[in-house]
Formats: sequence, C-alpha cells, structure tokens
Amino acid sequence: MTTRSAALIAEADAYGAHNYAPLPVVLSRGEGCFVWDVDGTRYLDALSAYSALNQGHRHPRIVAALLEQAQTLTLTSRAFHNDRMGPLLHRLAEVTGFPVALLMNTGVEAVETAFKAMRRWAYEKKGVPDGKAEVIVAEHNFHGRTIAAVSMSSDPGSFGHYGPFVPGIVKVPFGDAAAVERALTPNTAGVLVEPIQGEAGVIIPPAGYLSRLRALCSERNVLLAFDEVQTGLGRTGKWFAWQHEDARPDLLCLGKALSGGVYPVSAVCGPREVMEVFTPGSHGSTYGGNPLAAAVGLAALAVLEEEKLVERSATLGALALGRLREKLASVPLVKEVRGRGLMLAVELTKPLAHEAAVRLARDERVLCKDTHGVTLRFLPPLVTPEAVLLDGIDALVRVVRGLA
Ligand SMILES: *Cc1c(COP(=O)(O)O)cnc(C)c1O
Repeated sequence: MTTRSAALIAEADAYGAHNYAPLPVVLSRGEGCFVWDVDGTRYLDALSAYSALNQGHRHPRIVAALLEQAQTLTLTSRAFHNDRMGPLLHRLAEVTGFPVALLMNTGVEAVETAFKAMRRWAYEKKGVPDGKAEVIVAEHNFHGRTIAAVSMSSDPGSFGHYGPFVPGIVKVPFGDAAAVERALTPNTAGVLVEPIQGEAGVIIPPAGYLSRLRALCSERNVLLAFDEVQTGLGRTGKWFAWQHEDARPDLLCLGKALSGGVYPVSAVCGPREVMEVFTPGSHGSTYGGNPLAAAVGLAALAVLEEEKLVERSATLGALALGRLREKLASVPLVKEVRGRGLMLAVELTKPLAHEAAVRLARDERVLCKDTHGVTLRFLPPLVTPEAVLLDGIDALVRVVRGLA
C-alpha cells in the first residue's frame, strides 16, 4: 500500500465510526466495470456495490440525466408535485407489471415500506385484530439495517445489542415452504423473503420454493413480498428473480440498480388493493420521489432495457458459471460453485474467503467480497465485456487454487 492510500485509510479510521471493515483499497475513479485507486491502479469491480452498479460505473446516460436534472430542479418535497416522479412511476408499472409504486430512497426503506403495507393490509383488509399482525421471514436474510430490518435478522452481528426488537416477526428456515406453511396463523399478514439470499452467500432456494410460497399465500390470504433489492433489475438473468419460477409476489421491493449506482432510489411495487392502504400522512420521506432521483431512475431503467443487460446477464452468467464449475470442480477446497445470471458465488470448505478476496485485490486487481468467511461472491456489472469477465473468472480460479 502506498503512503497516500495509508494516509487516507488512517484518516477515515480516525474520524469515522468503524461499522465496516473495508479491503485496504482507496478508490477515486470508476468507469464501466473498472475502478481505479488513488495511485492509478485499475481493478475489475466484481462486487458492483452489491448490484447497485448493474449498469456499470458512471454510465454516461445516467450521469447525463443526473446533471441535466441537477441544473433544473432537485427537490420539492412531496408537499408539491414534480414533473419527473410520474414518468418514473409509469415506467415502473410497465417494467414490473404492478400498477402502483411508492418511491423511497434506500433499499431498507423499501423493505420497511413493504412491512408497513403488510401490517396495514392485515388490519384494514384481512381483519386481523389491531396490533396482532405477524410477518414470516426467512433465517439468514438480509433486509437492511433499520430496527425493523434487524429485528428480522438471524445474524447476531446485525441484531446484537440493538433490542428490544420489533414484535410480530416469525423466522423460519429459508428454502423450506413447509416451514412457512406451519408458521401461518390467522394473524399472518405476509411472508417476506429474498428470492435468492444475497448477503447470506448467494443461497438459491430449491426449485419450486418460490412458486410454492406463491400458492400458499394465495390459498391462505397472506401477502407475498419479495425483497429484490439485490436480485432485481437483471442481476439473475431475468428482470426479477421471481420470474425464474413465475411466482409473482404481491409486493416487490427494489433499490440498488434502480439508481445505477448514482443516487439512491428505491421502490415498493404492488397491486392497488394493497398499496391503497397508504393514505396521505401515513408514510413518506422528504427525499422520496424527488425529481433528481426520478430522473436517475428513469435513465437507469432505460439503460437496462436498451442495452439488453438482462439478456447479457443470463448469457454471460451461464458462460461464467460453466467456466468456474469446469475449472474448480476438482479443487478440494471448493464446496460448491453456484449462481444465477451474473450473481455468482464460490463456497469454500474452510473460512478462507476473506483471504481470497484480499489476494484477488492485491495480486489480480479484482475486487469482490466474502460473505461469512466461506463464500466468495462475484457480482460484476452487467456491462462487463465478455473477455474482461472471463479474465476475472480465471483470476478467481487462480486465487482459489492457490489457497488450496
Ligand atoms: C442491500 C440490500 C438491502 C438494503 O439496501 P440499502 O440501500 O443498503 O438500505 C435490502 N435488501 C437486500 C436484499 C439487499 O441486498
């Protein structure tokens, strides 16, 4: 590490709370699938800010929309209408197939909004006694960092010493539809899961899980909510991960790539019968639906569509997964190679994934991150050129083989 990087890291350490443990790389520029550190070294960004950068760094069209809007109108609050929000809501309806959306800023706010929608719907539409609503979630989920979100968590690192927690949350194993069925009661408002668990290490549920949840929720008059903040908008090779099983939820949480990594935008999309539980004054955010965010969101969706990034994710993802499997099949340190689209992971038999991430950055100039010490997650931007992607995969293979 150079003295310049070391000084910047020391400064952040000295003045910042230590709620992250970043790799010792200080980035100062990004373009497409690449980032550069303060010393000018180029890296492949194989984390993509956990999928926020599906469109790549500083996509010209998204940046142009940001700049243009920034010179016109940035914030009105929702006390007044603005001329950009309607077009984004309209486009979201076309893209998701849900007629109504509520715009927020961060992913966790989308989840919080879905959670509130489920509770209100339970009281106002289903007839659950006030204060008794239950929401079923999956163990090892990641829904963000607010108190409601960490109340859903089963990771002590996320929830430890933050109690007392939000009541009315029931946790069941992920991937087990029968466990959801057993947990249903007359007071169940909804079931909230990630269609593929990202932070848990790209955990893909057994085939039929999502469609079974869909059927169960319909039979038992319970809302099904999918948190697609990470999996949505092309990451898994479909627009939305629920499409792999045609298991359309009642509520869909989006964030991350809805901004193309430029400016936070999130949304909850759903049917009118559910979304109408929100009445004036019952929910909101000063920045939610602001014109700058809306302009960015519109451009981010347009880029996904016009550059066919969803199809790219499917094609390149299949290629990358095949190559990883072929080259890592006989490596004893590798427990499993898995993925959907460009959401890829290598699970090791030993907790060496952090070491692998450090070596990838240092020796191969590829940035990615481990989850829980045993899984290396590989999420390059969907715009990554094929040759660059395959070089990145080969780098990953070299590092994993080198650890063995
Ligand atoms: C990142 C993420 C969130 C939280 O998003 P923030 O923008 O960090 O609040 C919620 N759910 C999932 C599945 C995520 O990956």
